[in-house]
Amino acid sequence: MAAPLPSSSILLVALSLVVALCITAPGQLVAAADEDPLQDFCVADANAAITINGVTCKPADKVTAQDFTSTLLRTPAAAATYDSYHTSGSNGSKAAIVTLASVANFAGLNTQGLSIARIDFPPKGLNPPHVHPRATEVLFLVQGTLTVGFVSTAPNNTLFQTTLYPGDLFVFPRGLAHFQINPDKKNPALAIAALNSQNPGVSQLAVALFAANPPLPGNVLQNTFGIDEAEVDALTASVQKTIT
Ligand code: MN
Repeated sequence: MAAPLPSSSILLVALSLVVALCITAPGQLVAAADEDPLQDFCVADANAAITINGVTCKPADKVTAQDFTSTLLRTPAAAATYDSYHTSGSNGSKAAIVTLASVANFAGLNTQGLSIARIDFPPKGLNPPHVHPRATEVLFLVQGTLTVGFVSTAPNNTLFQTTLYPGDLFVFPRGLAHFQINPDKKNPALAIAALNSQNPGVSQLAVALFAANPPLPGNVLQNTFGIDEAEVDALTASVQKTIT
């Protein structure tokens, strides 16, 4: 058994903790998104065996302009694949297609604290309610019309919703549930979204509840929504259909 610490040591430990808190707390307040880079660049080395908070750097002498170039958003994900997306219900709304350039597929973004997406909306296309745990999103509408909104946290749970036209911007604050839908029955819409994390993450609310792997316990969903087992099964089947 270890000998008890003398009281002076306890005081020293306590003081050290206070000092450590004073040093780190302001840092946490300003580090609202990804950490700042400590060098010009740190191109992600996809083959690195080491796991860190981020991705390890490719050796600087192997880095080229190609590492800072991505053609991922060049091609509309659009028309050809729209029909393969399920309608999300009797209203015939289709899914929007989000193409995200993040550190996972664009190595030059590593440590730079941002990512970018193009979102192609077919007529009536929906980007369903979701959250990004690590990023604020700012959306620029290039073409078409979009109805967008987010919901603040409890207790108010206020919906902030508006309609955007080409050239308009909208901010979705970090971590808040949000959606975008094209209200136009005939014309597509195109948006570009920038996010202040190299790896913003996404949690689709319907998927998290009804298509988790393994599934949430039935009684959790029944009690949450006040519905019976058959209704849980119906919702589960419906959500599964929209994500395949
Ligand atoms: Mn989003």
